Amino acid sequence: MKQNLSRRAFLGLGATAAAAAGAMGLAGCSQPQSATPAPQTGTDATPAAGGAPADFVPNFMTAPAVPESVAETKDCDVLVIGLGLSGCAAAKAAAEEGAKVIAVEKSPELAAVSMAGDFGVVGSQIQKDLGIKWAGKDVIVNQLMKDMCYRPTSDFLGYWYDHSGEDFDWFVEGADFEVLKSTAANQETDKPCYIRPKCFPALEGYDYTTEYYPYFHGTITTNPNMQWTLEAAVAAAEAKGAEMIYSTWGEQLITDESGKVTGAYVHDADGAYTQINANAVVLATGDWGNNQDMRDYYIPWANEFMSFYTTMDAAGEVGNTGDGHLMGLWAGAHMELGPHAPMTHHMGGPLGVDGYLQLNINGERFMNEDIPGQNIADQLSRVPAGPNPMSGADDLRSWQIFDAKWPTEIAKMPDGHGYVNHFVADDEVDAYATVLSGFGLGYTTKAMVEGTEGLIVADTIEDLAAQCNLPVETVVASVNRYNELCAAGHDADFGKDPRRLFPVSEPPFYAYPFGSAGMLVLMGGLEVNKKLQPLNAEGTPIEGLYATGNVQGGRYLVEYPVTVAGISLGTALSFGRLAGMNAAGADVEATSQN
Ligand SMILES: Cc1cc2nc3c(=O)[nH]c(=O)nc-3n(C[C@H](O)[C@H](O)[C@H](O)COP(=O)(O)OP(=O)(O)OC[C@H]3O[C@@H](n4cnc5c(N)ncnc54)[C@H](O)[C@@H]3O)c2cc1C
Repeated sequence: MKQNLSRRAFLGLGATAAAAAGAMGLAGCSQPQSATPAPQTGTDATPAAGGAPADFVPNFMTAPAVPESVAETKDCDVLVIGLGLSGCAAAKAAAEEGAKVIAVEKSPELAAVSMAGDFGVVGSQIQKDLGIKWAGKDVIVNQLMKDMCYRPTSDFLGYWYDHSGEDFDWFVEGADFEVLKSTAANQETDKPCYIRPKCFPALEGYDYTTEYYPYFHGTITTNPNMQWTLEAAVAAAEAKGAEMIYSTWGEQLITDESGKVTGAYVHDADGAYTQINANAVVLATGDWGNNQDMRDYYIPWANEFMSFYTTMDAAGEVGNTGDGHLMGLWAGAHMELGPHAPMTHHMGGPLGVDGYLQLNINGERFMNEDIPGQNIADQLSRVPAGPNPMSGADDLRSWQIFDAKWPTEIAKMPDGHGYVNHFVADDEVDAYATVLSGFGLGYTTKAMVEGTEGLIVADTIEDLAAQCNLPVETVVASVNRYNELCAAGHDADFGKDPRRLFPVSEPPFYAYPFGSAGMLVLMGGLEVNKKLQPLNAEGTPIEGLYATGNVQGGRYLVEYPVTVAGISLGTALSFGRLAGMNAAGADVEATSQN
């Protein structure tokens, strides 16, 4: 019985499936370093027949064959697999601890996730100099835990709060960048790299304590994206002797008789293998949003979300295929129990995710619209889909409806990720040139809104409904009912905050289609201890192995929270650094009790 239970934990599957996997030799997939390679290990495994989910062993649990020969052997103290944000932090940290570091990256060059730049970090010198003050750790960590249904490891969030600011300062050391004084400030230099505080200063009158979903101010955004921060970290690591090898795929870990990880087999684009022996390996390969088999197995309900991840490997394939998760699983680690959390925050239309009336494709109101984009995406999953005039696909979920009063109303919408709160008049456009040229920064003009592709404009609700291909009578009834609730100042139907009950009453009327959300990354990682060592079936750490970034479990479960914008980069940075330090022998625990 004990055996069955632990095998089950090992796989993160049902007990029967675990037994089947054992029969297929999964436990032996990582060969002792000195053992004669067994070319066919595991490759004959097929999914077990049978209808019960517990009988099914997914193909991804089958390790590739151990290479028959290796072209080269290398030795190091710390091998980092994956040079995204967390891998760069790990490589720099390990090199600074004095370790001989090798890092492999399957992209042809250092390539940060494009468009990523919001760093939810707390208390960096940059933030202090700007006068940014975050809410307290107790408030933020408790809210994050609540947002994620108390499934993450609280210690990890506490550690992030205590360390991420200092980690950010450390990460960007040596980079040449400008810091804008506010979200709307124009650049004062011609430096290509700059940091912009997000939603700063806070919207006048905004008080997170009065919000259904609070937004915590303090995030800073690297522009044009985070590439230059990774370059700074890599330069620092290389200055300490780290060797970065691109166009090279980490494929599987090497373990000794005791199960300790002693290195990895990696290969180049021609399939030539290198055996890299290491005292410790850091898995920093990002998420598994583009591993269809893993998605089908762990999170089939998220298949409606098209992936937005764009970093490509040297073979032209998209990079977030869960390689590190799989390497860990094959070496005895287990996937944390879910629910895993897709990052799917909707960005809305020309007025972002502002809490205007939304009608589904039947013309009916269906929710309290005053919620963040991540939660809008969740709710849109519940309503029927229809033909989307914007995408051409059957993924239209709702229409956001507003009227001519929007320029004065948007200042009353919540502050935070995905909202548009600032109306810039035509004669002020020059003063806001930098922020208006950015994406999703909360500032807009009449011309920008009215020029939005796909925006429907009409002088009557009937015409608006007809142009949206919605049932006219239902839309008219829905709008009338909504306007009554607005007049009463009480949303008896869905409980929207009265501060955001704006009647749809003054033409022209506008409608913008909301499709299904896209998925940026898929959160769900290997179960780890506080030193970031993946745990085996018995809950024992796998020696010589560390998991960080989106390979690390315990950070996000159930829901990816946008109450702190950019917390994914914030934690990937802090835990990347910690994993690198520990892999180099530092022995530090991620705890909230600093
Ligand atoms: C469009 C977009 C915008 C985003 N914006 C934000 C944002 O503003 N703020 C925020 O907090 N989060 C954002 N995210 C999410 C964020 O980018 C990720 O959560 C974060 O980058 C995770 O860091 P990581 O180090 O775990 O993985 P990644 O940064 O994804 O890096 C993983 C690296 O490992 C490499 N790799 C994978 N497999 C192998 C292998 N077998 N061998 C060698 N190398 C391998 C990959 O090529 C990649 O370079 C965004 C995501 C997307 C897609």
